Amino acid sequence: MSQKIVIIGGVAAGTSAAAKARRTNPDCEITLYTDDQDISYAGCGLPYFVGGGIAAKENLIARTAAEFQQEHITVNMMTRVEEIKPESCKLVVRDFVKSYEVGYDRLIIATGARPLKPNLPGVDLNGVFTLRSLQDSLRMKEYLAQKHPKTIAIVGGGYIGLEMAENFAQLGCQICIIEKSPHIIPNMDEDMAQILTEYLESKGIAIHTGEAVEGLIGEDCVKGVRTDRGELAADCVLLAIGVIPNSELASSIGLQLGTKNAIWVNSQMETSVEHIYAAGDCATTMHLISGKEVYIPLGTTANKQGKVAGANAAGGHAAFKGVLGTGIARVMEMEVSRTGLSENECKALELNFVSKRIKSHTAAGYAPESKEMYLKLIADQNSGRLLGGQIVGYAGSAKRIDTLAAAIHLGATMEQLTDMDLAYAPPFSPVWDPVLIALNQF
Ligand code: FAD
Repeated sequence: MSQKIVIIGGVAAGTSAAAKARRTNPDCEITLYTDDQDISYAGCGLPYFVGGGIAAKENLIARTAAEFQQEHITVNMMTRVEEIKPESCKLVVRDFVKSYEVGYDRLIIATGARPLKPNLPGVDLNGVFTLRSLQDSLRMKEYLAQKHPKTIAIVGGGYIGLEMAENFAQLGCQICIIEKSPHIIPNMDEDMAQILTEYLESKGIAIHTGEAVEGLIGEDCVKGVRTDRGELAADCVLLAIGVIPNSELASSIGLQLGTKNAIWVNSQMETSVEHIYAAGDCATTMHLISGKEVYIPLGTTANKQGKVAGANAAGGHAAFKGVLGTGIARVMEMEVSRTGLSENECKALELNFVSKRIKSHTAAGYAPESKEMYLKLIADQNSGRLLGGQIVGYAGSAKRIDTLAAAIHLGATMEQLTDMDLAYAPPFSPVWDPVLIALNQF
């Protein structure tokens, strides 16, 4: 009898797992359950779909259920897994009409995460949104088209909040960003975040940092936001304050949870219970510098973890060693990116670090496309090892972070990197690429 692999969740991790399991073992039986109305969609593209840059929701779908079926992967949409019975290797699932049991030999939990929705007055008013699923984005688009809000408050100044600021601005809305931390993009250093803050303010976006939301104001539809500093008018509110892992199903059967209540996994994506794997935004991972368990939910990691879980569940041998927390976003003309450790993270790890920041340009000074960019490097003072990098600048700046991520991934020291043969021609960089300029400061 062929091995039966069951996957819970059908976005990045679940579908990657299914595809890899099929490639690893052409004969196994693969069944995927998702409670969503959509499958295999690019959550990362949702801000641009809301803003209109991506015209049709179909453009966000990587593979349809029918395409999975062609690979002999059975997809059950709008079907929720309600219970796992590990002692009998069975699941209780519920669709529109009935609840029934299915068996598995290997189970992959890829249940993802959900947006944090604080228990605040007015949080369920019309016009208050979170953005996670394709259906969330459709609801938001409908509201925007019907109500034409003039002022939108974005609660949370992380990547999603920033990307949505760009897209709401394209719709002609007045925007304010409210961030509880002392600066926006809290996973970057304050001096780098400040460059972006000044840019956004110059574009008319109000930035309220160090300010906590205490409630949403309105009767039926939202009219404003109450913070610990006063009231702000808003006829639409986006809550983008982070996510929590969907790990309740796992914890209900005693699977070990790790940091931030995500499902603990090892590098093979095995959970603490035999034959059960977990991957993606519901699972933990390791930080490649600190060696500590972290929860940094991103699509890049979800795809990689899903692939490893799928391979191993199907009898292969794969591992995923961990992440550097590499991230990137664009807000209007400005790009931001980061990798490795920030100064705050170095301090928390009690590392003896040194940091340098440079201002340079995206192209040769005389090239018409040349624009400002800032690059910051953080290195270990004892070993000389590169620990982290952060970039803020105009188009062409942020993807330079990949050079730094690759160097950190390989454990390179500053000395090993200063003579790197990086590409140069006037439209792309000054003759000394900003990465090299920064490296040569040490
Ligand atoms: P999810 O996408 O959360 O999918 C899990 C699925 O499982 C959901 O459909 C859920 O409904 C379903 N499910 C849960 N419980 C059950 C159950 N009991 N039974 C059946 N089904 C269940 N990442 C990047 O790397 N770069 C970006 O630029 C980026 N931009 C983003 C922008 C936005 C607006 C958002 C929301 C996310 C962005 N991300 C980005 C993050 C990325 O989308 C996620 O990391 C990725 O979707 C995680 O995939 P996942 O499969 O682990 O989980």
